[in-house]
Amino acid sequence: MKFTSEQIDFIAKANQTISDDPKSRISQVVRDVLNENNYVFDAHCHIFDGDCINVKYLATRMIAGAYGRFKAWIWRLVTGEQYSSNKSILSTEQMIDLIYEDPKILPDKDLASAISRMEKELDLMEEEAKNMKSAMAFDLIEFIKRYKTIIWLLRSGSMESVYKVFETNYAIHQVINYRTNGNKKLLTVALGMDLNSGWEGSIPKTWEEQNKELAAVSKNYPILPYFPIDPRRTNLYYEFLKAFNENNPQFFGVKCYPALGYLPSDERLMPIFQICEEKNIPIMTHCGGEIISTFENPIKVNRLGEIITINDSNRKDRARKLNEPKEWIPVLNQYKKLRLCLGHYGGGAAWENKPSTAHRIPEILDMMKQYNNLYADFSFNLESLTAIRNFRNKLFKDDDHGKLMKERSLFGTDFWVILPLSDLITDQHNFIVETDDLINELVKTNVLKYLSLV
Ligand SMILES: [Zn+2]
Repeated sequence: MKFTSEQIDFIAKANQTISDDPKSRISQVVRDVLNENNYVFDAHCHIFDGDCINVKYLATRMIAGAYGRFKAWIWRLVTGEQYSSNKSILSTEQMIDLIYEDPKILPDKDLASAISRMEKELDLMEEEAKNMKSAMAFDLIEFIKRYKTIIWLLRSGSMESVYKVFETNYAIHQVINYRTNGNKKLLTVALGMDLNSGWEGSIPKTWEEQNKELAAVSKNYPILPYFPIDPRRTNLYYEFLKAFNENNPQFFGVKCYPALGYLPSDERLMPIFQICEEKNIPIMTHCGGEIISTFENPIKVNRLGEIITINDSNRKDRARKLNEPKEWIPVLNQYKKLRLCLGHYGGGAAWENKPSTAHRIPEILDMMKQYNNLYADFSFNLESLTAIRNFRNKLFKDDDHGKLMKERSLFGTDFWVILPLSDLITDQHNFIVETDDLINELVKTNVLKYLSLV
């Protein structure tokens, strides 16, 4: 690749100011936990609060959790609109598309009003559910409780409180300790997000403010924070140099979310990946579902300098193309030793053998064969027992793919965005039962290798 003078300058500065030892980027708190050597990782987590998202994001997340008989309830929660019994219920996908196409469907002007309205609505729903005489009532009450938790988390307004709720009530070490009567600690990979670049600057806390907060929380708790990048940020190189400066490193890794409107091989990101490879900075990318994506249509993206137009008629199809694991091949061909984790391992739909994405799994495993520092985490997919079982079946196979999976698969939850779909404690319990004695590789050994902390 031929770099611009700005990029050459960035690389030169990065070479002078960024250490190539990942251990120099961990906080004292993380160091202590590592030294005690009695811990497990959650390799894929989010602790952003209500000021890091907007009404549309919340509505989309909430709808993603709506299934079967609960869809009408969620539609009512999100839009304030009752479903009349003679109207056919929309699919989750149709609901999400409606919100992307016409956000006016959402009655709330900002997140604070959405949260108070939804809180009242959930109280009402809970009362109604309690008075129901059908077998559905019990499930519905559980479902409403999960949504209440999300509202409550977002209301807190700080990443620190979201993290605390996660660590105390939902994290994997609690499940493991309960099962084994142990006292393991938790190390969390907490991923930042840059929604503002892809979503027209509609988020109250700026990218810079969110980064500052995530870095600050990570100094006080056993967290490895990831810096969210987007090629459209004009101050990306400047902020990156600050984030990883060896005198006062703020971040440990880098987070990508291509579905927000770019390809991994965007020429503006290539100098960043060059530095990540040279300096042992791990990357986490979203490589799963399409719930959150750019609104652009058609989408114009950059692949190694070439402008590509994605103009499929439906939003999901367009977003899916940005999330394809093979879009990382041009990057990995340039930077073969890049430490990369494909978040969600291609996605729950792929692990449920859905035709749209099932091809991703053999592709990812073939890529792992090619690139030694390529990993994948199973986060989010925990909500599907079918996905967990298909994962287990491949993991325990004694073939090439099974062997690679044993060495390169990581455990993660995708807290809190998984909450609308998942009873996280039960789902993690199921995952531990299914993966049996390989759980230690997934929650510890493989994560340490990926992070280059061995
Ligand atoms: Zn995630």
